[in-house]
Amino acid sequence: MSQVVQVAVAVAMGLGILFIGRWGIRLLATPAPEEIDRDDVIDVEAPFICTVCGLRLTVTHAQGEDVEAPRHCREEMEPATFGD
Ligand SMILES: [Zn+2]
Repeated sequence: MSQVVQVAVAVAMGLGILFIGRWGIRLLATPAPEEIDRDDVIDVEAPFICTVCGLRLTVTHAQGEDVEAPRHCREEMEPATFGD
C-alpha cells in the first residue's frame, strides 16, 4: 500500500472517530426537559386505544388542548371515543 493511501485511510479513520465522539458528547450534553409550569396544565379528557393490544386509557391532564397520542406496544395509540 502506498503511503498516500495509508495517510488517506488514517485521516478517514480519524475523522470517523472524531464525529462519533462529538455525537456521543452531544447526546450526553443534551439537558433534561425543563420543568413544566403547573399553571399550564389544564383538565382534558382524551381517550386513546392501543391498536395492538386493545389497552385503553384516558388522558385527564395535559399542557394545552392538543394532546399528543401516547405510545403503547411501540405504536402510537389511536384516539378513541367513550362509546366504543
Ligand atoms: Zn398496547
